[in-house]
Amino acid sequence: MQFNRKIADYIGWEETRYDALLDLYEPGMKVSDIDKVFSEVRDGLVSILDRIRAKGSEVDDSFLHDKFDKRLQEEYNRELAERLGFDFEAGVIAVSAHPFTTNFGNKDVRITTRYDENDLMMSVYSTIHEAGHAIYEQNIPDELAKTNIGGGVSMGIHESQSRFYENIVGRSRGFIGAELPKLAERFPNLSKVSPDEFHKAVNKVMPSLIRIEADELTYSLHIIIRYEIEKAFINGEVDFNELPKLWSAKYREYLGVEPANFREGVLQDVHWAGGMIGYFPSYALGNLYGAQMLYKGILRDLPDYNEIVASGDLRRITGWLKDNIHIHGGTYKPSVLIEKATGEALSASYFLRYIEEKYSKLYGI
Ligand SMILES: [Zn+2]
Repeated sequence: MQFNRKIADYIGWEETRYDALLDLYEPGMKVSDIDKVFSEVRDGLVSILDRIRAKGSEVDDSFLHDKFDKRLQEEYNRELAERLGFDFEAGVIAVSAHPFTTNFGNKDVRITTRYDENDLMMSVYSTIHEAGHAIYEQNIPDELAKTNIGGGVSMGIHESQSRFYENIVGRSRGFIGAELPKLAERFPNLSKVSPDEFHKAVNKVMPSLIRIEADELTYSLHIIIRYEIEKAFINGEVDFNELPKLWSAKYREYLGVEPANFREGVLQDVHWAGGMIGYFPSYALGNLYGAQMLYKGILRDLPDYNEIVASGDLRRITGWLKDNIHIHGGTYKPSVLIEKATGEALSASYFLRYIEEKYSKLYGI
């Protein structure tokens, strides 16, 4: 992390040193842009979380932790990826402890997922997420594929694609209604679970310490904590040995939980150990871009969006993402791309509206 301060100074910066690192992952984005949207998101999410806590309702997700045969999970995941638009002629799905996507051009896009016989949705959401990244790369036009703009434009736009499929589509009531019968065919232990119960279970809100296990509502808070800390460190406002204390204070303040040790706190991610400072904001930016695409692009152009999701055939939605995002590859900076696709500059309001609409219904708050 110390070395990243030097790297930023070698690259050069104008407003704050952290801008130089941010630009490596989200070209053109500045701290001044992110501070504004992230503080709105943070305050909005903390207040919704408070309302859910005050309501105190328990969600039963025990049926997701029954026993689910791994071979049947593999079969289902393969079919699901295909339905989302993953092209097996130009890609493969393998297994790894931590799922990822890698590609060699647009004709060889490889994703991994992971299986746990006692956690059905772990593989399902890993597959959906990585398929979202992969579909983006597979849809890069051949004319761009062998150029230096022949790939996804930024980590944030990439995450917008994976997280759009995973959360906005994959955790919606419509999608669950379409997929549950297909799951119950393979896993009879789900045959007595209703779509509403299943929908609630996959959206269970549970403030926790570990980012990669976080629910959709609290996930962005995990990211904002990391952003605030790494920005303060790079800009020289805090020292290295103060990070664990700062981490605990922010977790207590935003999420109401506190790590007992560094392993479940400040040391849990690979990003800082690997020197990838400036990467974290991408995940939350992806959530914001995705929600803005939904409200200001997809619902505008596909007024029957909800029926499309509920039909289980997502090709027209993938088609919208292809026409408005994927085909441009790295031609436009993220700020230009989002404005072209949605008619507006990046705003926190759509993500907050999405979260508000979703969780007020789910939790009756
Ligand atoms: Zn991702």
